[in-house]
Amino acid sequence: MKSYGTGDAQTLALRGVDLDIRYGELLMLVGPSGSGKTTLLSIIAGILDQDAGQCLVLDHDFKHMNATDRARVRGLSVGFVFQTFNLLPSLTVAENVAVPLLINGMPRKEAAARARGLLDSFGLGGRAEALPAQLSGGQQQRVAIARALVHEPKLIVCDEPTSNLDHATGHHAMEMLRREAQAPDRALVVVTHDARIFEFADRIAHMDDGRIVEVSSGTAQETPQ
Ligand code: ADP
Repeated sequence: MKSYGTGDAQTLALRGVDLDIRYGELLMLVGPSGSGKTTLLSIIAGILDQDAGQCLVLDHDFKHMNATDRARVRGLSVGFVFQTFNLLPSLTVAENVAVPLLINGMPRKEAAARARGLLDSFGLGGRAEALPAQLSGGQQQRVAIARALVHEPKLIVCDEPTSNLDHATGHHAMEMLRREAQAPDRALVVVTHDARIFEFADRIAHMDDGRIVEVSSGTAQETPQ
């Protein structure tokens, strides 16, 4: 359960959710605007605390951890992809991708090499020294996906990752995410209202008015690694 505000201004954003997220799956949270998708994703990612109930993520109970431990676990184990990409504008593409590694204490040189290797594999090696603003939206989202993956987190949370992308570019971004979800020790949770990408889900949790009203199986096929 999660509410915002108090008294007359109180909004009940989550009324009671029972959901398991499984390793090796891409789970989508879908539903109308205001149904609680982002709130649930934020609780799963340890950004927000629920008011009541328990949320265990990789055996961690974020709500009852101190800020330091929470930041450490999040830094090591969670990757984030946002609708607006959220790249740091004054850092190069390679520096942006290296940020999670530096936060986790990896030496700068090693982090830069790892970031570059990943950018190469994403077809962005030639843009490593560019600033984010010099890239197209699709390229920026690929950089953001690289940043979410570079430290090999077990959980990747994506908030409307395709909503600022055209169909073909969004499809490409989802193909990249889909491949990552096939790792046996990793799970992806994707909030979306973009029906065109439902085909990438293993399971789809349909939300309405703060509840999960149905969990259906998606139509994702195994794609070659
Ligand atoms: P969705 O992601 O499905 O659009 P949200 O989780 O963003 O839904 O919102 C669920 C409900 O909580 C909505 O009624 C929304 O207006 C409300 N809400 C979300 N964030 C806040 C906030 N920071 N303060 C007050 N109300 C909020």
